[in-house]
Order: sequence, then C-alpha cells, then structure tokens
Amino acid sequence: MSQQAKRVVLVSRPKGEPKASDFRVEEYALPAPGQGQVLLRTIWLSLDPYMRGRMSEGPSYAAPVPIGGVMEGGTVCEVIASNHPGFVRGDIVLGRAGWQTHALSDGKDLRKIDAALGPVSTALGVLGMPGMTAYTGLLDIGKPQPKETVVVAAASGAVGSAVGQIAGIKGARAVGIAGGKDKCDYVKSELGFDDCLDHRDPDLSAKLKEACPDGIDVYFENVGGEVFEAVFPHLNAFARVPVCGLIAQYNDTAPSVPKWAPSLMRSVLTKRLTIRGFIVSDFAARHGDFLRDMSQWLREGKLKHREFVTEGLDRAPAAFMGLLKGANFGKQLVRVGPDRA
Ligand code: NDP
Repeated sequence: MSQQAKRVVLVSRPKGEPKASDFRVEEYALPAPGQGQVLLRTIWLSLDPYMRGRMSEGPSYAAPVPIGGVMEGGTVCEVIASNHPGFVRGDIVLGRAGWQTHALSDGKDLRKIDAALGPVSTALGVLGMPGMTAYTGLLDIGKPQPKETVVVAAASGAVGSAVGQIAGIKGARAVGIAGGKDKCDYVKSELGFDDCLDHRDPDLSAKLKEACPDGIDVYFENVGGEVFEAVFPHLNAFARVPVCGLIAQYNDTAPSVPKWAPSLMRSVLTKRLTIRGFIVSDFAARHGDFLRDMSQWLREGKLKHREFVTEGLDRAPAAFMGLLKGANFGKQLVRVGPDRA
C-alpha cells in the first residue's frame, strides 16, 4: 500500500464563528515529485487570523480557499525528495504548504531558513510574517518618537507583543491591551511594556486615560470594535493609527455603522489623524532591514517571544477556532511532524 499523507480541507463557508463541521481531515496517497519539483514534509504550520477571511467569499485582498480546497497557511518544511537543482533532501524551508502533512512545490515559493538566526519555528513568528507586520506597521506608518505613547491591542499575541517591544526599543512608552490578568501580567513583567489593560474591563476607556496621561500618539490597531471605540477619544493631535487587523469583526456577517462613526470622522479632521491600513506584503522591500534588526534584538535579549504549540494536524481546526477567541497565549503554531524525520 502507498504511504499516506493527510490534509485539512474547507467543507463549508462559516456564517459567523467557524465550527468543526466547516473542516474535514482527509487522507491521500503521498505524491511523488515530478521534474523540477520537491516533496515537502511539514514540521510547523502557522495558524493566523487572516485565515478566517480566506474561508469567506466576498471582496478581499486575496482569493478565498475554494470549497474542497486545502486550507492555506505558512509552513516550515523539510525537503524529503528533490528533483529540483536548487534543493537537496534535508533542506529546511519556509513556504506555504498549507494545512497538510506533505506537499509538492516547484520551489518558487520556498526560502531556505537560516538556522543560525534562531529556532526554525521563529520563521513563522517573531522572525516571520507576524514579526515583519509589527516592524513595518509600527516603524513605517506609526513612526513612534522617543517619549511618545504607543498603544497596541492583542498585546500578548504574535504581532502585538513585537509592536510594544519595538516601541520600547525606540524609546517610546508602550501600553498593551489584552484579554485577562495572566496575559496582562505577562505583557508587563516578561515583555516589559509600561502598562497593560484588560479589554474585558467595562471601564477600559477610563483606564486608558489613567495609563496614558499624555494621550496616545500611536495606536496600532489589531482588533477594532469596542477596543477601538475605547481608544480613539484619547488619540492626540497628529496621532498615527496603522490599521493592521480587525479580529473582533472577522466573524461579523452583518456589520453595521457604529453610532460613534461621525464622532470619529470629526476627530480625524480636528486632530489631523493619520489612519492607514496596510498588508505586510506592501513593505516587502523592508525584509532585509527587518531580519537584520529583529534577529539582532533577539540575540541581545531585547525582544522576547512566546509560542503556543498545538500537537498534530488533526487538532488544527480546533486550535484555529480558539485563536479567534483568544485561547492562544503567544504565536499559534501546530507541530505537524518532528523536527527531523
Ligand atoms: P494573535 O496571536 O494576537 O491572536 C489573536 C488575538 O486576538 C487573540 O489571542 C485575542 O487576544 C485577540 N482577540 C480576539 N478577539 C478579540 C476581541 N473581540 N477583542 C479583543 N481582542 C481579541 O494574532 P496575530 O498577532 O497573528 O494577529 C493580530 C492581528 O494582526 C489580527 O487582527 C491579524 O488579522 C492582524 N494581522 C495583519 C496582517 C497584515 O498584513 N495587515 C498580518 C498579520 C496579522 P486576547 O486574549 O488578548 O483578547
């Protein structure tokens, strides 16, 4: 019998929160690489909030996963067979194999990982797409100045944890917003943010006023919804708001215009706010700067990160559903296979 591989496919487009029945785990025969191809074995799969968008149809910056298609995702893989001149068996590569144990690739979407920079899983986190999102969104749009106040939500997560620490490295004051005491304690004591507030606190807006006595100069937006409503009255004149993500709204199938929208528009005008959305790929030209700075800060101990590992591909759907509700504590990864076969 041929060797079997496994994949997770999209069965139905969720209405509101995704549920287990929207996914199916399938087995299939391990494919053989053709000429110019490599066969990959997945070690690490990254789970990221953007995947909720790929499950839905409708206008977006990227095409949806088709029904019956393999869920998309960034991966760290080992090359286990190669008919490609650029790769040999045993190479560890960053790519987009998706939610599956094995995949074929023509090599165009693969980058060999420099293991000297850190553990290979960091290529999906602090030294990968989320880290680059934090670095470029904060430095190129937020432009924090020494002594300014930077606020970031989802502060214990992959992007937010790096945003606050980079703000600190640049001499700004970092205030996080996170879900619950454990995450807030970690953000302050381990990551060194100046303060961290719980977004479940009904007095979040008043607490922000106390934590940011000089107002907010940069708000790095990861969440949207009620957190943004609490933050925007405290923005200073000429504040910058890099709009990175709106996770509180991703399951919202019937969005309505909030009652505070006119008040926000008045603030944009009178306070001359800059609110700019971005996708990390907009800043692809900054990848070299990002890797140089972030790997140096990691080596120097100025940048800390935390991984939240789920064991086994079968558990990816449950882990993803948890990620959308804050069940992860750090960068959400799935260990699909051992480091070395
Ligand atoms: P995280 O590791 O931060 O995980 C998501 C976190 O979001 C949860 O742990 C939870 O933290 C928080 N959250 C979920 N629902 C809510 C809610 N209703 N209110 C407040 N917080 C909530 O994810 P990432 O760091 O990977 O991503 C953070 C954001 O950045 C996302 O919005 C994502 O879409 C965006 N992003 C955008 C990119 C771009 O190119 N523009 C690229 C990468 C990410 P808690 O328990 O603290 O509430």
